[in-house]
Amino acid sequence: MTEETWDVVIVGAGLSGLSAAQTLRKRNGKLRILILEGKDRVGGRTVTQELPAAHGIDRWDMGGQWVGSTQTYVMDLIQEFGLEVYTQYTTGKKVHHVGGPHAKVRTSSTSIPALSTLVLLDLSQLVWKIDRLSSTVSVEDPMKTPNAQELDSMTLHSYIEKHAWTEEMKEEMGVCSRVVFGMEPNQMSFLYFIMYAAAAGGVLCLLESTPGSAQEFRVKTLDCTAALCPQGGTQQLSERLAQQIGRESVRLGQAVTAIWQDAERAKVMTATHSYLCRAVIVTCPPHLAAKIHYQPALPIQREHLTQNMPVGHLMKFVITYQMAFWREKGYSGEIVARPSAECPLSVTFDGTSPSGSAALVGFISGVQAYNWSSRELSERRDAVILSLVKYLGEEAASYIHYEEKDPLGRHGDGHQVVWLHGWGNSVRSEGSP
Ligand SMILES: Cc1cc2nc3c(=O)[nH]c(=O)nc-3n(C[C@H](O)[C@H](O)[C@H](O)COP(=O)(O)OP(=O)(O)OC[C@H]3O[C@@H](n4cnc5c(N)ncnc54)[C@H](O)[C@@H]3O)c2cc1C
Repeated sequence: MTEETWDVVIVGAGLSGLSAAQTLRKRNGKLRILILEGKDRVGGRTVTQELPAAHGIDRWDMGGQWVGSTQTYVMDLIQEFGLEVYTQYTTGKKVHHVGGPHAKVRTSSTSIPALSTLVLLDLSQLVWKIDRLSSTVSVEDPMKTPNAQELDSMTLHSYIEKHAWTEEMKEEMGVCSRVVFGMEPNQMSFLYFIMYAAAAGGVLCLLESTPGSAQEFRVKTLDCTAALCPQGGTQQLSERLAQQIGRESVRLGQAVTAIWQDAERAKVMTATHSYLCRAVIVTCPPHLAAKIHYQPALPIQREHLTQNMPVGHLMKFVITYQMAFWREKGYSGEIVARPSAECPLSVTFDGTSPSGSAALVGFISGVQAYNWSSRELSERRDAVILSLVKYLGEEAASYIHYEEKDPLGRHGDGHQVVWLHGWGNSVRSEGSP
């Protein structure tokens, strides 16, 4: 086994690992930095794929896609690389189908959801309470939040049960938890939830596509004939970071299996190589970080965290069409749906590309992903299309291409899909969905 010496070894070439390398390089250009990536590509949970579309082939993000103006680090990165964003299409009616098995399908053309007056009042009081608590959270170190232990010892589910007035609002919060985190409310620490909301600028910012919200912009695919950007979409951020850091500093197909450390140095091992260094930065999601063998063992709190952090489950689909028929019918393409035996999807949005290739993008998440992921792709696809026909009309059945990505599925990446800004936070399980 060959052995090389570096200053810093970074595990994982997703946005976190590559940004860490870029930050270190900016601070000290002489540092010898090596990034080890288990897969055969950079980008991690951002992955951009070519799909058959109305004008031939176009590109869509099958992982992370939206950015918002409150996400200042990624917006700075986009600007640094001279990339452009474009606004998420939101014009027209939004479809809302939540509120128990007998709920009516409702539509609304404003950012206010189509809810009854009582449920709207319930929403306002609950969001007010959660946002007030969020304003006390230390985003950098949530355990420094007043009453952190108490907030961390309850789940989002137990908080909602106590503070929501209506059954419909409880169901709405379930949808929120599912579409944002891929988790059921009983799987998530309430402290984690409010920390996440605080980082986003408030609960509603997590859910909406309005200015300042998490679904505000998408990254344009620019100049994709250039070698710099073979993928386009959000994956080009990682491609460009890797280019800037130096391709020779990024080794693909090198899954780290063990990290040993003594007082002077660390040794990072893969199946074929070992690397000596002064510092190691591990950027893989907690459940994958837990698979690395550490010597000496990690502090007990850290082990406890990685062993107890449930894996969110978000399956993403993109469906391409000849034309954006929903726009012509006055729909925005946004659908929010409750889990049911017939309908796998939780949420959809207009996914039309900047060059005008019509598409819908959506998610099967949380308990729906759990129930549907083991079925055949054709079964899931047909059920998604049937649901779209129900909500948007017959035209939904005449699609060009259906593509899906299940990061936890048989052909997936096996990665956690929770949208984490800082993954050292506590998430607790009250049982699987
Ligand atoms: C379907 C989906 C949709 C999403 N949509 C959005 C969105 O619209 N907006 C948004 O802000 N976020 C979104 N996210 C989340 C966002 O993509 C992630 O938060 C972000 O990409 C995480 O980057 P990361 O570098 O921290 O982790 P990752 O991207 O997971 O990178 C970790 C890297 O470590 C590698 N690795 C793991 N174990 C090892 C090992 N032992 N040795 C070496 N390498 C290893 C992995 O292969 C991976 O490349 C979405 C995620 C998914 C899955």
